[in-house]
Amino acid sequence: MKSKNTKRDKELSADIVIVGGGGAGLAAALTAVEQGVKSIIILEKRAALGGNTALATGLFACESPAQAREKIVADKDELFKRAMKWAHYDRINPRIVRAFINRSGDTIRWLEQMGLEFNIIPFLPNQHPRIWHCPKGRGARLTQLLAEKCRIFEVKVLLKCGGKKILRNKMGRIVGVKAENEGQSLEIKTRSVIITTGGFGANKKLLKKYCPPYYEGLTLRGLRLTGDGLIMAEEAGAALDDLVTLLKEGPRVNPDTWPLMGLERSPITVWVNKTGQRFVDEAIGDYPFESVNAVLLQPDKGCYALLDDDIRKKYEESKSDLKEAIQKEAQKDNMIISDSWDEIAQWIGANPRILRKTVEEYNVFCGQGYDENFAKDRRHLMPLHTAPFYAVRSQPVFLDTLGGIKINEHMAVLDVRGEPIPGLYAAGVAVSGWMGDTYCGELSGSAFGFAVNSGRIAGENVARYLKS
Ligand SMILES: Cc1cc2nc3c(=O)[nH]c(=O)nc-3n(C[C@H](O)[C@H](O)[C@H](O)COP(=O)(O)OP(=O)(O)OC[C@H]3O[C@@H](n4cnc5c(N)ncnc54)[C@H](O)[C@@H]3O)c2cc1C
Repeated sequence: MKSKNTKRDKELSADIVIVGGGGAGLAAALTAVEQGVKSIIILEKRAALGGNTALATGLFACESPAQAREKIVADKDELFKRAMKWAHYDRINPRIVRAFINRSGDTIRWLEQMGLEFNIIPFLPNQHPRIWHCPKGRGARLTQLLAEKCRIFEVKVLLKCGGKKILRNKMGRIVGVKAENEGQSLEIKTRSVIITTGGFGANKKLLKKYCPPYYEGLTLRGLRLTGDGLIMAEEAGAALDDLVTLLKEGPRVNPDTWPLMGLERSPITVWVNKTGQRFVDEAIGDYPFESVNAVLLQPDKGCYALLDDDIRKKYEESKSDLKEAIQKEAQKDNMIISDSWDEIAQWIGANPRILRKTVEEYNVFCGQGYDENFAKDRRHLMPLHTAPFYAVRSQPVFLDTLGGIKINEHMAVLDVRGEPIPGLYAAGVAVSGWMGDTYCGELSGSAFGFAVNSGRIAGENVARYLKS
């Protein structure tokens, strides 16, 4: 895919320039090819294609051929209504959600035709219907496959080449893109641009402006993308809106790996904040995009999962032996092992009396089979009796940002008056209007899914625009 920049490259032209070679950009390019567009250039700032999409596991889809084969009924109308209800019809554009959901099943067909195979896995406990389509080889394979197809259809890819500026003429039409390739600037003449630059998780200025839940110290999982597309779009006259969602997740001990196999968010542990008090029904730990909200409300935005040796053993029945991992995390000060709750309280920074009271009260709830505080399902009620006791420190993280550029359901970028900018389109997580304030549990896999589906929709509409 790598393309050397020759002198000729500096005077390039194309029918479409796609800025950003992640899931949305690659899907847009291939779709435009299918619609007959001959000359397409993808600019990718990094040395490799794929973006955050290459790190993802599963994408949302309903009414897919894979679901049909497994006799899974995933009705698009029903899921649309559930998604809108999830968001309370707030900070969300139903036309965009509808366009995404309607296209999702066909996108699985499209990907299967290219040779991708899917497992449809419940993302949440007892999730009904199953809608999380996990490609074999995950997002990495999916993006690799799309990139291979792009190469076959002679889509030109410029790596290490960041889009800088979108050029419009006096009539407002798109006429080119300025880019920078390892210090050298180049200009590409084009009639249309699709912005697919992903999120802005590494741009603190934008995070502070558009994401109220963001705070210094909230760790980013994923690529350090800076929201160039939002900045370029705004400079070109596009409207940005505040319908931005921080894709938060947690709590986790470590942003990138699962050293404790998810022990820190297991419903059979007991969660306390730094004051030593429980603050939520720990069963919410199975719903990481919601439990993170409860943790974010705590004094230091931290969570300490408590367990005893019986809980450890019970957890290990379904996972592998964690003894070694627990010792390692204790050495890193991510957890403490002690026979004394007072010592654990000290490590947390809590008042020992309060922590002892929390543990005693919880043990009473376990004995009576009823959690008077938060009505936790009695299946998860296991007392803290058997030393050694453990406490695991964990924190919220975020994976990406969702939103910013205002679009309509055709992925056409809108100006500040709400009018489409002729020839300017955007897709993927750089655009707004498809997610409420918390990542939608009803549509598990919707960031990955939206990237690919909105990319396809953008590719199709740009092709239509070029013909018009
Ligand atoms: C670890 C991890 C796991 C995840 N798992 C899931 C999951 O299982 N399901 C799910 O739904 N979501 C998941 N997500 C989120 C999801 O993968 C992403 O939000 C989504 O795929 C982003 O797609 P995109 O095409 O919009 O952007 P990306 O795939 O991030 O692509 C954007 C591309 O644009 C490039 N770019 C940026 N600026 C410029 C510029 N100026 N010029 C040229 N190129 C530029 C970037 O380098 C990047 O390659 C996960 C995220 C992470 C980090």
